[in-house]
Amino acid sequence: MCGIVAYVGPKEAYPVILKGLKRLEYRGYDSSGVALLDKELKIYKKKGKVAELEESLVGKDLHAHIGIGHTRWATHGEPNDRNAHPHLSASGKLAMIHNGIIENYAQLKQELLKKGYEFKSDTDTEVLLNFIDDIRENNQCSLEEAVRIALKRVVGAYVIIIVDQESPDTLIAARKGSPLVIGIGKDEHFLASDASPIIEYTKEVVYVNDYELAIIKPDELVLKNLGNEKLTPFVQKLDIELAAIEKGGYEHFMLKEIFEQPHTIYDCLRGRLDLSNGQVKMAGVQQNIEQLKNANRIIMVACGTSWHAGLVAEYIFEELCRIPVEVEYASEFRYRNPVIHPGDVIVAISQSGETADTLVAIEKAKEQGAFIFGVLNVVGSSIARASHSGAYTHAGPEIGVASTKAFTAQLAVLTMIALKLAKEKGTIDAARYNNLLHELHAIPEKVEVVLQQKDKIQAIAAKYSNANDFLYLGRGYNFPVALEGALKTKEISYIHAEGYPAAEMKHGPIALVDETLPVVFVATKDAYHEKIVSNIQEIKARKGKVLAVITEGDEIISQLSDDIMVVPEADEIVAPMLNVIPMQLLAYYIGVSKGLDVDKPRNLAKSVTVE
Ligand code: GLU
Repeated sequence: MCGIVAYVGPKEAYPVILKGLKRLEYRGYDSSGVALLDKELKIYKKKGKVAELEESLVGKDLHAHIGIGHTRWATHGEPNDRNAHPHLSASGKLAMIHNGIIENYAQLKQELLKKGYEFKSDTDTEVLLNFIDDIRENNQCSLEEAVRIALKRVVGAYVIIIVDQESPDTLIAARKGSPLVIGIGKDEHFLASDASPIIEYTKEVVYVNDYELAIIKPDELVLKNLGNEKLTPFVQKLDIELAAIEKGGYEHFMLKEIFEQPHTIYDCLRGRLDLSNGQVKMAGVQQNIEQLKNANRIIMVACGTSWHAGLVAEYIFEELCRIPVEVEYASEFRYRNPVIHPGDVIVAISQSGETADTLVAIEKAKEQGAFIFGVLNVVGSSIARASHSGAYTHAGPEIGVASTKAFTAQLAVLTMIALKLAKEKGTIDAARYNNLLHELHAIPEKVEVVLQQKDKIQAIAAKYSNANDFLYLGRGYNFPVALEGALKTKEISYIHAEGYPAAEMKHGPIALVDETLPVVFVATKDAYHEKIVSNIQEIKARKGKVLAVITEGDEIISQLSDDIMVVPEADEIVAPMLNVIPMQLLAYYIGVSKGLDVDKPRNLAKSVTVE
């Protein structure tokens, strides 16, 4: 998510940085900016596309041989000019760009506020910058030393780059958890989030590791650890194409995003799931706890894949919190005359936070007194602004049009909310609660295990890619997963697919079954396991082809099926986050084997801002 570029050397810095920012646009962002240091610091930033920044800078003084540039994907504070990076320190001497999240920023901010600091933005970045500046002033130490001291206090993930008016030929950079590559040219250095802005200038690069600090001058690169020991930079020669770097070596963004899921689910849980204290920490829930736990009912309002996340959440909330839940298509909800009572809670689920139908639906419900809680990926989006409260999914920009990682992050957030409310309400016993916290915590690793079956699922996809129809079946928590599997197949491989509750199949779709129909069962071990075994028998008896997603070690379904995709054992409440992965991979590989543009399926848009 988001991007950074910096340059120091004999070239004009601005054109190098601007081009670099454009190369990083694919990562997704909401605003951009540059800081150029000639005799003094010049900072320009703008909400929107890099092209808009460029346009706004025509005629401006852009001369400099050192500079930093940023595309922001907001996590703290709305996307606007003020919150865009670079930020300027209170002393006016330092400019900084940052990718990532400073998790303990609120505490650091309190300390600085007490000292009289004022903040011009809502970002965690400005807090870290002033924290560094303050250490430098107080300790009368070098900037490098101040950064080292500051970073020892910082909790979170970051890459930062700082220019200092007092050292006009030096960049200071550091990383933990977010990427940083340094390109080595002749008497010049290029810094960026990945190699794409760099390779047209040099193929020699150093990948900076976590907890390392780089001090970069035109002709010198010094790498140190946070203990101030010098390290020998490991210089690598790049041998890759530009396009391949942007997609991180994956053939498509969709595949990259499928494979990012262990990380994105982890990011979503991080800082919220506190196993040692047995707590779920979510500020947006905590601040409205009475409203939420006393809800007469919850209405999930969403479209597409997010609607499927809402369906899974319906099962979870009813089971754990004993609150009645309805799941509504936003487009239907907004046009009928729904009965809404004050005290009803609307949970609006949307990746982009711009989904037009969902936005209008919540505005309508708000007028009638409902409390609106957003579960959204894009910070500061329209639905975020229209909601009373919410929780972000922190999945990073999703570029593939068919949603993958946003879905699993939505499930992670919704599950955490349900657990928190259930505990508050006393509708869950301690053992089950603690067990589910651990089950959630284990999901990223288990997703990793599912992804290892990529080649096997690719082979299954090749076998069925000529099918004209698919049927997807599941029961309970796996019914919405079946719907999501069918949707992915439609979106990505243009094959007609239906998702049904497995038992409902007998009331119609079973008429479709013959030896040409692949039927995908999401049949992992849960309370309904024996029932779904019977449903599989019913399909086999009619010569349908059975593809099953099963729990590791399930010999019974394995023997009944033509093909199996295996997932590790997990509690049925968290299992959908695992079970959907084979669905995503199956649809992806069928699409690829048919030669389709899986990242941009025909007729579809990423963010549906029209009704
Ligand atoms: N947390 C920072 C902000 O919200 C940086 C976001 C980013 O990585 O672009 O401004």
